[in-house]
Amino acid sequence: MEAPAFQGGLDASTDVAIVGAGILGLAHAAAAVKRGLRVTVFERSEVAVGASIRNFGQMLVTGQPPGIMLDLARESRALYLGWAERAGISARANGALLFSRDRTEDAVLEEFMDTRAPAFGYNVKLLRGADLAGLYDGRFAMHRSALQGFDDLQLYSREAVPALAVWLATQGVRFHFGTLVRGVDHGRLDTTAGVCNAQRVIVCSGHDYQTLCAEQLRALEPQVCRLQMLRVTPEDGFHLQHAVLTGLSCTHYGAFADLQTARALATQIEQQRPELQRHGIHLLVSPTPYGDWIIGDSHDYSQDARPFNAESVDSIMLDLARDTLRSKLRVVERWQGVYGAKRHTPGSGAFSITRIDDRTTVALMHSGIGMSVGPALAHRHVDALVDGTALPQWTAPASLPATAIA
Ligand SMILES: Cc1cc2nc3c(=O)[nH]c(=O)nc-3n(C[C@H](O)[C@H](O)[C@H](O)COP(=O)(O)OP(=O)(O)OC[C@H]3O[C@@H](n4cnc5c(N)ncnc54)[C@H](O)[C@@H]3O)c2cc1C
Repeated sequence: MEAPAFQGGLDASTDVAIVGAGILGLAHAAAAVKRGLRVTVFERSEVAVGASIRNFGQMLVTGQPPGIMLDLARESRALYLGWAERAGISARANGALLFSRDRTEDAVLEEFMDTRAPAFGYNVKLLRGADLAGLYDGRFAMHRSALQGFDDLQLYSREAVPALAVWLATQGVRFHFGTLVRGVDHGRLDTTAGVCNAQRVIVCSGHDYQTLCAEQLRALEPQVCRLQMLRVTPEDGFHLQHAVLTGLSCTHYGAFADLQTARALATQIEQQRPELQRHGIHLLVSPTPYGDWIIGDSHDYSQDARPFNAESVDSIMLDLARDTLRSKLRVVERWQGVYGAKRHTPGSGAFSITRIDDRTTVALMHSGIGMSVGPALAHRHVDALVDGTALPQWTAPASLPATAIA
């Protein structure tokens, strides 16, 4: 049966229709409204509850490999700072500290500082000795060194994402929450609230590969990655101001993962802590504006996200956090996050923009860094559509193998 056309306040037509109100959908809306277009966003849930509010809110510049990902992260940083000013979202510019805990982890930071950091202008400093001992009254002095990334931002996603939507509404973006888009076809959207006709349709449906454009998306060989996450309160009242990572993250992030020393580190983890490798665990700690910390994470790749969280995985992550931050922790929340991933075959990429028909494109992240690069990717995508130029494409950094993505 034909769905009814929008009545009353609902739009029967628009310049740009966007499916999904996660960070990608909202960033596309921001970019399109900036170009003077009428924008309508459709989101199936009453509030966005996808990857964009389940994450750490770490807007990582330092971890990105040189090339398009580093460029996108730098551009996204500027966009977030603009939104912080205009939309009032919290974006703390305190940066991140990545601690090396032994000689092997330290060697990766050394190699990064000697080679890639100066070559590509990463805004970082390696802290040792007195600098390290001076951090937080010596709390981290037991580590060998710390890479301080000055460009990394911290967002509190569960508040920032809805706040961005509220601000976009004040800029003229029309939102239809609680509205599933059932089909898109050459500018015609069939939704549970009626039909909308759009000059352009941008699908930002996260890790839902079944509802829209399923056939075309299958060719991308998409997967999902499920992650276990916790929010904890430090019982000693320790007031952490930076995002914290350890050397374990050097095997995950493209800025480091292909360095020779990082390969040695991966071998060490495999031999000494196989459970970390088995569950894809590396420690990330993000302080929230309220004094508690989001900690994680583990990585489990599959076609469908298994719903069962393993307590043993949470325990490993809690132990890592206690050892690194020297605080007694009380767990206040646990949840599972799921993001869009992809089989890591040569030539695969961290994101994709796929043209479906003359009016429809799909923008997807295939790695866990959409919060870091999504805003700029959306702006490049919208600019390309409006200006009729080439769509953004993921390209492997020249110095990295194609498989080394986060
Ligand atoms: C636990 C976790 C931790 C992470 N940590 C970080 C981090 O610290 N830094 C970082 O950079 N990245 C991080 N990421 C990755 C990042 O969160 C994602 O890459 C990003 O949020 C993806 O945004 P999105 O808008 O594509 O997807 P989503 O946020 O999932 O949004 C997609 C939206 O589309 C809607 N939708 C789908 N289909 C339809 C339809 N047919 N009709 C209407 N609506 C529809 C969904 O309801 C959903 O709201 C993390 C992810 C997870 C899960």
